[in-house]
This record gives sequence, structure tokens and C-alpha cells, in this order.
Amino acid sequence: MIKCNSCGAGMRFDPATQRLVCDYCNNTQDIFSQTGENISEGSEAPAEYETMIYTCPNCGGDICCDSDTAVTFCNYCGSSVELEGRLVTMEAPSGVIPFQITKEQAKEAYQKRCRQALFVPKYMKEESKLEQIRGIYMPYWLYDLDMKDDVHFKGKKSYRRGDYIITDHYRLTTNVDAHYEGTSFDASSNFTDELSMSIAPYKVAMEKPFSQGYLSGFYADVADVKNKVYSQKSKEVVGDAITESLIHTKPYLQYGAGKEDGNIAKHLHIRKKRLAYFPVWFLATERQGYVSYAVINGQTGKLAADLPIDPLKYVLFSILLAVPIMLFFSLIPYAMTPIVLTVVSMILAVISWLIGMGERKGLHTRLHSLDDWGLRSVKGQDLVPNEEEQSENKKGDGLPMIGWKPWVGIIIGIILFFWGPVQDYYYYIGIVVIMLMVLWSFADIIWLHNQLTRRVPKQFARRGGDDDYARDIYAESQSEIFREESSKESGEDATNE
Ligand SMILES: [Zn+2]
Ligand SMILES: [Zn+2]
Repeated sequence: MIKCNSCGAGMRFDPATQRLVCDYCNNTQDIFSQTGENISEGSEAPAEYETMIYTCPNCGGDICCDSDTAVTFCNYCGSSVELEGRLVTMEAPSGVIPFQITKEQAKEAYQKRCRQALFVPKYMKEESKLEQIRGIYMPYWLYDLDMKDDVHFKGKKSYRRGDYIITDHYRLTTNVDAHYEGTSFDASSNFTDELSMSIAPYKVAMEKPFSQGYLSGFYADVADVKNKVYSQKSKEVVGDAITESLIHTKPYLQYGAGKEDGNIAKHLHIRKKRLAYFPVWFLATERQGYVSYAVINGQTGKLAADLPIDPLKYVLFSILLAVPIMLFFSLIPYAMTPIVLTVVSMILAVISWLIGMGERKGLHTRLHSLDDWGLRSVKGQDLVPNEEEQSENKKGDGLPMIGWKPWVGIIIGIILFFWGPVQDYYYYIGIVVIMLMVLWSFADIIWLHNQLTRRVPKQFARRGGDDDYARDIYAESQSEIFREESSKESGEDATNE
């Protein structure tokens, strides 16, 4: 903890002024002046630093904090408990992006999003809850990549001569000399890849050399994902970016070069991997054993939030909306014919099917953490699901099958059209059945959506019913992360083949 040089109280880093401030005597001082490490900007960052690490007795989540005041709630599972602290020495990151967004700004951004989302339950918006928004430095792995190599694309050009169309094939060769700095991936399994992607990007150019001053008054998460996890992914991301810029140049456009030909990822090599802290405002809301997260990029203010739908609010809104629509249609002569109503209800059925399939796919991905490489690596799973896991996933996951319900409605509508009954009431019976199917699928959609916005607290994966597991993973990741950090690229190529 950094003490105020005039009154001795603990200071905190102030995002608005980018200085340390003392809340007791209003003294301010520069980050690098009184840190005790005596480093100035541009010099070597310290290799390690001392901090308190707090563990949640409820979910096993770890969080680091510099201050000696009690940590009274857990931001991962949302429970109000006093966390157990102990002093540890942590490996220091090489850099940090300081908070730019203040707590007030973060709260405002969240409140604004809640106002925009019509069906948010009341408990998500409570003022007392908002106070629990916490500024956390999330560890990220940064990869610097280089490439200096020839790449080949296939191209072709067609033209007509008389009755023939002649196609010439070309082999396009470019020498690419590219350097990428700081392609980043989150290094904490608490923080899902999906959440971190949704508030990306960070402006890595604003990164500062690490000083503990930036952490004053803030928290830091623990890096438990090994840096080799994202080696291949970083090559793919940068490879795609290079391909994208190449195929938009004139010669490539002229010869119709395809995206897939170059395979640039395999030409890239990683020059450096390093750890850096990126700022995130983090809010967890606990409800019935589940937790919903809101995260805000502490540099740019970009927000992503799990906002559940309150079914009661939704039903009330639908009724309120349906009444004026019905009135409007009843004023137009011949608008309320059975045929028109059948078509409208069939369109609603198609819409509910499309929305439902989208939500279901999202939930399936979440349930099996298919896209979260960080979490998968900590759980010891293959990064890409193997055949065994895929067939296991196909067996069904207890999610409601949304597909058939709208289709029953659509088929009833089609039958009505082919049959063309004379009496209107056959249509009305059909319309009622179609609308019931639509309502049923919307009920499923709300259920699926709410499952997507309510997470099982992540550390259940760490605990696995076994406290030692969490310690082992932690100890192992700590040693491995930094062993790899210092080692050269030799192990790198082996993992990529
Ligand atoms: Zn002071
Ligand atoms: Zn917890």
C-alpha cells in the first residue's frame, strides 16, 4: 500500500487525474514518485510485488487487493462474506493499462443500459447493489508476432474470345514483412473469453510500465491460464488480419484471390509473450445460486451485461402492445380477414423459431464452454472438443427443443391454405393453435435467455468438490506461467504441429 507523504493514510489511484490522491488530506502525488520501487517511466518494471490475496469461502475465487481494509463481498459469486486474506508475492506484469473510466462513469453506463432494456427485473437495478461495482485489473497475455516470408495465393481471370470463355490461372506471390504488437487474450479463467471479447478492444499503445501505484484502491485478478493456450489463436487472429489487408489490395482484387489460400498463420512466429493488466469494472448480481455479470472496459467504457428478462414484465408489455395493434387493424376494412390473420401468425411462428434457435445455440456453447479456451485449459479439456466430447454433446443437454413448436404452427397454416375451408371458424381454430405454439416458443426463448444471463459461479469448476484442486491448479499455473514466460520459442513450435 502506498502511504500519503503528508498524513500517512492509504492513497488511491484516481482515473480522472491519473494521479494518486489521498481522501483524508486531498494531497495528490505522481504515480512514479513515491512507490518505493523508485522506478521511472521507461525503466525496467519490477519482477514481483507484494500484495494481499483474498479467497472467497463460498466459491473459491481469488482476488488481489493492496489495501488492509476487509474485503466484504465476492465479485465472482456475488455473495456478501468476509474474504480470508493472506500476504503473497506475485510476479509483476510487464505493463498495465491504467483505469480511465471512473466508478461514477461505470455506474452511469450500467444504469443507462438497464433503462434501455425494457424487461430487466428490479433487483438488477438496486442502488445498493450498484455500489458493489469493483475496479479489477484483469491479467492478459500479450503476444508480439513477426513474419518475413513469401506467401502464395491462387488467382484467376476469365475473358471471352468468340464462343469461348478463357480462364487464366495465376500464382500470386507476395513477400510479407509484418510486425504485430500486443495481440491480447485474457489470462484468468474467472473471466470468460466471451465476456472479455465483448468489451474488447483495448488500446494497447496506452500501456504503461507496471507500477503498484496503479493498483492502489483497485483489485487484481490472478492469472491461471498458461500462455501457450493462446499461441495458436494469436497466430490465427494476426494471420486473418494480414490476409484481410492483402486481399483488399488491387492486384489481389483483380485476380480474385481467395481468403483461404495464403494460410498466413503458419508463417507467423511469436517474438515475445508477456503478462499485462487491463482495467475492467465488474459487477456481479447473485440470484438463486446463479450470478449475472456486468463488465465495463475501464479504458474505453464499452459495456457488456447479462440482463435477464422478467417474465411478468414481458407479459404485461405484450398485452399492452397487442391492444393498440388490434384496434389499429380493426379500423382498416378487410384487414382482419382469417387469411391475413393466418399469415401474420405464421410469420410470428417463423420469427420465434429463428430467435429460439439462436439463443439455444448460444446456451449450448456456454454449457460446454465450447468457445472458452482459457476455462477449458484450466479444466484440462482439449481446446477444441474431441470426438468423444462431441458425441457426448450430441446426446442432448436437457435444453427445451424449440424447433418443432413453431413448425407445428407453420404446418397448420399451410394445411389451411391448401384445404381452403369455407367456414371461417376453421381458420380461427387454426390461428389459435398457431398463436399458442408461438407463445410456447416465446416462453422457451425467455427461459433460454435467462439461462444465458445467469451463470454458475465460475469457481465451481476450480473447486470441483475438492479444495486441494483449487490450490494445485493455482500453484501449478503460477509456476508454469512464469517458467514459460522466460523460456524461448523452442517449446512453441512443438505445440503447433
Ligand atoms: Zn493525506
Ligand atoms: Zn465468491
